[in-house]
Amino acid sequence: MAEETIFSKIIRKEIPADVVYQDDLVTAFRDINPRAPSHILIVPNKLIPTVNDIEADDELALGRMFTVARKLAKAEGIDEDGYRLIMNCNVHGGQEVYHIHMHLVGGRPLGPMLIG
Ligand code: 5GP
Repeated sequence: MAEETIFSKIIRKEIPADVVYQDDLVTAFRDINPRAPSHILIVPNKLIPTVNDIEADDELALGRMFTVARKLAKAEGIDEDGYRLIMNCNVHGGQEVYHIHMHLVGGRPLGPMLIG
C-alpha cells in the first residue's frame, strides 16, 4: 500500500485548501505556493503515487483530469491566451508530493520551464 500524502487529507476535506472543483473521480485546488496568477492542482481522488503507477483502470480518472483542466482554464479566463499542464515524475522530474497531480498554470507568459 502506498503511503498517503497531504493531498488525500485535502480530498477528504480534513485539512483546509482552496478547493475549486470536486467530483467522484477528481479534486482540484489552488497550489499553496502559486508560480503564476492561476496555479491549480488537479488530482485523482484515488491515491496513485507516480505516473509510473498508473494502470488501465485509472484511465477514466485521468481523462477527467483533462476535462476539468479545460473547464477550469476557461473559468480562470486563461483559455484563450494559453496555459501549461505539467505532471512531474520522481526525483529528476522534481516531484515533491507522491500523489499524482496535474499543475494547471497560466495568467502570464510562462517561459520555457516552470516547475521542477
Ligand atoms: P510537485 O513538485 O510534486 O509536482 O508539486 C507539488 C505541489 O504541491 C507544489 O507546487 C506545492 O506548492 C504544492 N503543495 C504542497 N503542499 C501543499 C498543500 O498542503 N496545499 C496545497 N494547496 N498545495 C501544496
